[in-house]
Amino acid sequence: MKSYIEPEFIVERDDQKCIRCKVCINQCTYDTHYYDPEDDVIRSRDENCVNCHRCVVFCPTKAITIKRNTTRYTENWHWTQEVITAIKKQAESGGVILTGMGCDKPHYTYWDKILLNASQVTNPSIDPLREPMELRTFLGPKPDKLELELENGDVVLKTKLSPQLCVETPILFAAMSYGAVSFNVHLALARAAAQFGTLMNTGEGGLDKRLYKYGDHIIVQVASGRFGVSLDYLNVGAAIEIKIGQGAKPGIGGHLPGEKVTVEISRTRMIPVGTDALSPAPHHDIYSIEDLHQLIYALKEATDYIKPVGVKIAAVHNSAAIASGMVRAGADFIVLDGVRGSTGAAPKVIRDNVGIPIELALASVDQRLREEGIRNKTSIIVSGGIRGSADIVKAIALGADAVYIGTAALVAIGCTLCQKCYTGKCPWGIATTDPWISKRVNPDIAARRLVNLLQAWSLEIKEMMGGMGINSIESLRGNRSQLRGVGLTDTELKILGIKMAGE
Ligand code: SF4
Ligand code: SF4
Repeated sequence: MKSYIEPEFIVERDDQKCIRCKVCINQCTYDTHYYDPEDDVIRSRDENCVNCHRCVVFCPTKAITIKRNTTRYTENWHWTQEVITAIKKQAESGGVILTGMGCDKPHYTYWDKILLNASQVTNPSIDPLREPMELRTFLGPKPDKLELELENGDVVLKTKLSPQLCVETPILFAAMSYGAVSFNVHLALARAAAQFGTLMNTGEGGLDKRLYKYGDHIIVQVASGRFGVSLDYLNVGAAIEIKIGQGAKPGIGGHLPGEKVTVEISRTRMIPVGTDALSPAPHHDIYSIEDLHQLIYALKEATDYIKPVGVKIAAVHNSAAIASGMVRAGADFIVLDGVRGSTGAAPKVIRDNVGIPIELALASVDQRLREEGIRNKTSIIVSGGIRGSADIVKAIALGADAVYIGTAALVAIGCTLCQKCYTGKCPWGIATTDPWISKRVNPDIAARRLVNLLQAWSLEIKEMMGGMGINSIESLRGNRSQLRGVGLTDTELKILGIKMAGE
């Protein structure tokens, strides 16, 4: 069948600059470039280009420019280019349109409508370059009160504390499963987490034994497919996270195609080589908060009650009530993943239309837990499109204890958000299990880039806190008086629990 779909991108090559080195041919995993020996020229198949920028970056003479195809259907606000193209694609394929990464629609980013405060005259700001600033964060339930006693002149803590996770910055690496990303990516994340004093999350694909030595800096995930879950796995991590839902695809399961299940992936996931790894939409043993309670305590029992056990859900309409149940079920930390959360593969229609923005979910969950007097019984980690240090400061002021970053971490390694992760041919060697392509991620360089990112954002967080006259992340948490809204309705301001700018 002849395709009616026009290429989305056009490759332009400056023939004066091109030296026929064929680097672009070798770098492109989508077969976009080819050599024409008859004319001694490099040509392109525009229809294959995904705008990943791999060739642009590696062309030694900077001969390549990728342009968006400007040929458009007749302008129509309702029947947009995206809608028309999607219908044509489905008329040709008869299938669900898959995509990777997070929702790219413009109408969900509340961070950009929230502004931060700064001290002026009446309360002095703090210079983070001269004075100590505390970003160290403890994740886990806090007691209602502390009991102290004097013993031989020393103050001794009598209250038995619940297991805590200690991170040097409130930034953790989000769940990205081995299989969805390459081993080198997992290795780089683990190394960076260990070096900076934070945590990475395995995602639902288990943990390769070569990474067990980084266990103190790893949260191991237990998801509906139970891939890679063993007693060793549970005990090697610093904490356990039960994954109920994911922001990019709330309510549906996952699917790692058999061709991505290599020998190493099969060993880690504990499934046969070449078989599809299907994660059911629900956990087949969880149909109520009581069932969740049983799983949480089964995992605590399996790990001698020395590790925090958390629960991750996608941010949906009744997140606050669900979160309350999760805390009462014994979740030491809860993870809320917003509508902009990323994925290796999801139906586009789900990614772009299901779930709610993380800002609203976070504010309502934090508020609900406070109203019920159980906010101290858990920590809140939020994720789903955190783009920079300002988003993090706003998230913490809205009530989060810490954030997970996934997309941003991958961008630091090389990802250009081409959204083609589901093809398994990630040109940057990230979302792939192909041994040849995976080599494009050098774990040493990738870990260094990740540490640099954590360092840069931590410095910026300190700068913003200092500007507010705050020297400890504890004093920022839930401090909504430091936030003001612009361009928001009264209802939005009410849910966010913040005032309008100028008030
Ligand atoms: S990488 Fe650049 S210089 Fe080399 S063949 Fe491709 S366009 Fe030409
Ligand atoms: S991980 Fe790779 S395939 Fe996925 S968006 Fe980034 S560059 Fe594209």
